[in-house]
Amino acid sequence: MPTPIISKRAPIYADVPAEKWNDWRWQLSHRLNTVEEIEKVLPLTESERKALQTQGLFRVDVTPYYISLIDPTDPNDPVRKQIIPVSEEMNAFTAMMEDSLAEDRHSPVPGLVHRYPDRVLMLVTTQCASYCRYCTRSRIVGDPGQTFNRQDFEMQIEYLKRTPQVRDVLLSGGDPLVLAPKILEELLTRLREIPHIEIVRIGSRVPVFMPMRITQELCDMLAKFHPLWLNIHVNHPNEISLELAEACDRMSRAGIPLGNQSVLLAGINDCVHMQRELVQKLTRIRVRPYYLYQCDLVEGSGHFRTPVAKGIEIIEGLRGHTSGYAVPQFIVDAPGGGGKIPVMPNYLLSMSDHKVIVRNYEGYVTTYEEPTEYKSHDPKTCKFCQSKRPEVGQTGLTGLLDGEQMFIKPEGFDELHNRDGIQHRLKDENKWKPLGIGSGETD
Ligand SMILES: *Cc1c(COP(=O)(O)O)cnc(C)c1O
Repeated sequence: MPTPIISKRAPIYADVPAEKWNDWRWQLSHRLNTVEEIEKVLPLTESERKALQTQGLFRVDVTPYYISLIDPTDPNDPVRKQIIPVSEEMNAFTAMMEDSLAEDRHSPVPGLVHRYPDRVLMLVTTQCASYCRYCTRSRIVGDPGQTFNRQDFEMQIEYLKRTPQVRDVLLSGGDPLVLAPKILEELLTRLREIPHIEIVRIGSRVPVFMPMRITQELCDMLAKFHPLWLNIHVNHPNEISLELAEACDRMSRAGIPLGNQSVLLAGINDCVHMQRELVQKLTRIRVRPYYLYQCDLVEGSGHFRTPVAKGIEIIEGLRGHTSGYAVPQFIVDAPGGGGKIPVMPNYLLSMSDHKVIVRNYEGYVTTYEEPTEYKSHDPKTCKFCQSKRPEVGQTGLTGLLDGEQMFIKPEGFDELHNRDGIQHRLKDENKWKPLGIGSGETD
C-alpha cells in the first residue's frame, strides 16, 4: 500500500476559515519568524532558540501551511530542519564560500548568470515564500529592501536581445512565483517577445511552501507562455501533501512539464530508502525527479553536508531498483564556477577492442559485443554538423573526440614546460597533425 497523501494543519490554525487558509496572501502575511510565534506551533530546542535570537542570521520566515507539516514532538523532523535555524548555522567550515558557484563572476549584467552556451539563469527577485536554511544564494536572498528591480530587469532584457545564442531562460531568485502576478506576467511577455528564446523555465519552491498560490488563474496565465517548464523543490516525502498534489495537478493540466530538484541534506534525506520513497511519491503526482544536488559550500550549511559518496550510494539504490523516470541525476555544482557535474556509480567495468564489460544494479556482470563493421559518421563532411559550430572555448571534450583538437591544457602548462626556450618548436601543437610528422623515413 502506498502511503496516503494527506493534508495537515497545526492546532493553532484549526479555527482559521478555509477561505483564509487557502488564500496565498493570507499565508504570506501570516508567516512566522520569531521565537514567540514559532513556539506557539512547536516547542523550540535550545539550539533553535539561540539561533532565532541571533542578529544577522540568514532570514527566517515560514508559512503557516509549511510549518504545519512538522511533527512538533520530533526535534529532528525533516521539514523542521529545512526552515528552523539551529546554532550550528553559525559554525564556519573549511572550504566555505560566500558565492561558491561564482555566479557573480558569470554575470554580464546584474542578476543574469550566463554560464552555459545556450541558456541563462535570471534572478528576478530576492524574496521567497519561506527560507531554506541551506540556501545557495543566501548572500543575496531574503533582503526585504531588495525586491524586483526594474532597472536591472531592463538591462537583463537588453542583454538577452543582443545575445542570440540564448535559447533557454531559467527564472529563479529568490522565487519568481512570489512576484506580484502583474509583474510576473509582464516579465514573461517581455521574454516571449525575443524571438530566439525558445523555452522559459521557472525554478520555484512556492508549490511546496505555499501550494495555494498555484491557483487556476495563475496556471491559465502561465499557459499563455508555452513552452514553459517548471521545477519544484521537494526534499522529503513528508512535503508531498494533498495541497501540493493538487497544485501539481493544476500545473500539469495547464501543460507545464514538472520536474523536481532536491538537495542532499544530512539528517533530512541522506538515506536510500527515504530517497526511493521520495522519488516514487513524486512520480505519483506527475513530477519527474530531475536533479539531486550535492550541498553547496555555502555559509551556514556546514551541518547539512554529506560526503559525495552518499549521493552515489543513493543513485546506486535507485537505478534499476525503481522506474527509470524516478531516478534523478546526481549533481555536484563545482565550486568556483565549474558548473553542474553529474556523478554516478560506475557501470562500465572494462573493455577491449571488441567488447565492453558492464554490470547492472544487481551486480550481474556481462559483456556487450561491439560491432565489427561500424563506419562512423564524419562531422567534417556533414553539412548539418558544419552548420553547428560551437562558441570558442565551449567545444569541451567533444572537441577532443572529433579530432579537431588533441588535448586541453591546464593553466600555466606551457610556462612550466617551456624550460630553456623549447617552446618555439611546439607552435600549433594544439592542432591535430596527421601521423607521419617526425616519424618514418625522415627519422
Ligand atoms: C543550473 C543552471 C542552469 C541550468 O542548467 P541545466 O543543467 O540546463 O538545468 C543554467 N545556468 C546556470 C548558471 C545554472 O546554475
